[in-house]
Amino acid sequence: MIDSKISDILQDIKESSPGQNEFYQAVEEVLFSIKPLLKYDNKYLDNNILSRIVVPERTIIFRVNWLDDKGVVNTNLGYRVQFNSVIGPYKGGLRFHESVNLGIVKFLGFEQIFKNALTNLPIGGAKGGSNFNPKGKSDNEIMKFCQSFMTELYKYIGKNRDVPAGDIGVGSREIGYLFGQYKKITGDFDGVLTGKGINWGGSFARKEATGYGSVYFAKEHLAVYGDSLEDKDCVVSGSGNVSIYTMKKLYEFGAKPIACSDSRGTIYHKKGIDIASLISVKEVHRDSLEAYAKLHHDAKYIDTAHYPSGGHAIWHIPCDLAFPSATQNELNLIDAKELVKNGCILVNEGANMPTTPDAIEYLLNSGVKFSPAKAANAGGVATSQLEMSQNASMTQWNFEEVDIKLHQIMKNIFKTAYGSSKEYGADGNLIVGANIAGFKKVASAMIDQGVI
Ligand code: NDP
Repeated sequence: MIDSKISDILQDIKESSPGQNEFYQAVEEVLFSIKPLLKYDNKYLDNNILSRIVVPERTIIFRVNWLDDKGVVNTNLGYRVQFNSVIGPYKGGLRFHESVNLGIVKFLGFEQIFKNALTNLPIGGAKGGSNFNPKGKSDNEIMKFCQSFMTELYKYIGKNRDVPAGDIGVGSREIGYLFGQYKKITGDFDGVLTGKGINWGGSFARKEATGYGSVYFAKEHLAVYGDSLEDKDCVVSGSGNVSIYTMKKLYEFGAKPIACSDSRGTIYHKKGIDIASLISVKEVHRDSLEAYAKLHHDAKYIDTAHYPSGGHAIWHIPCDLAFPSATQNELNLIDAKELVKNGCILVNEGANMPTTPDAIEYLLNSGVKFSPAKAANAGGVATSQLEMSQNASMTQWNFEEVDIKLHQIMKNIFKTAYGSSKEYGADGNLIVGANIAGFKKVASAMIDQGVI
């Protein structure tokens, strides 16, 4: 009965939202994994929560026109999916990447609902972005695009309504241009965006939060099995915000990140990735990782053209711990088999939905511990909420204060997800634990607030 109800819902969304494969993948994982809860308490089915929760409260799609440096008019699509606001104002990042479409934004927004609930902070779920590709654009073009994007988006956001942040392709530079335009149009200097500059309303440790939080989570996960990060060789895909600060924190706990990647290739540096060089290559010069190999002759660069057939080079490098921290579906079954063969003991997701469903199944069946993104990468949004709190009270906490709160939040998220997995008979399966804990909180609030 529960299986057929879930299958009907999946069929409905496939018919009403054609071609949104990543969204179906995210919904399918959540709905099937919460079956132990649905069996135990039928109020969720009785109130038709499943059919309601998979439909965004509001979807905004808009045109973004902007002039490039040659004076040519360009047109992109802008999105904001305001998915669920029962536990707080909509909250979730903006992604600027050529692959962005409605299905991608909906999968990210759907995941965000449960992630935000897990933080135990009052934030609802949303996500947005554009198919704008920032690569190769001048600062002036990025600014023009951000201004045009905000000229439409500002109508739908607000410090108590919807508070966007960064994601792929949206860092402090883009948040600055977006905030400047918002303030110019509305005249309000308020906490409408997070990830702001430290000198103008930002929070210390927000930049580091997702990566640091991911490592705090991995530490808790290993501790349950009497293990630690000490002396572990780690591979961390991506070389952006999440990846860089994951690697930085890994060093602090005595682990060694030996490989990272970007959209063009992978770096394998056996003696350990040099974080200062990496920041210089990726954050300062916005260059490809090939430039890192030119600075370190003992590092090996593998171009995507030379990746193993059907797989991704980074997961084929022997490691103890794997931190997928680039993008969705970047770790597939071929990669998972290689990780298992090489003795990897933990996959800790920093990116959103980076592991394909068949890869997850293989890893779990092979005894690899698995930290799902919803729980493991929630440190970013949690610290964004801390930024909102500081803005609302017109204060600024120092780095250590924020970091201590972040660390405690990650410990609590682990405890919640792990405890919930035990309570519902899933014995340490954190996918089940995190999804049930997040869903329960949101679904109960939906019931409390009536049919609206
Ligand atoms: P960034 O834009 O800072 O970095 C993304 C990195 O991933 C870059 O190194 C990029 O390579 C690489 N990448 C992007 N797309 C691909 C691809 N198709 N194949 C291979 N590599 C790719 O983004 P973030 O670090 O902020 O985000 C990374 C992931 O973490 C995303 O899934 C995001 O949703 C998630 N996340 C981010 C949070 C945050 O606070 N920033 C919070 C929670 C989750 P290149 O440099 O060549 O573009």
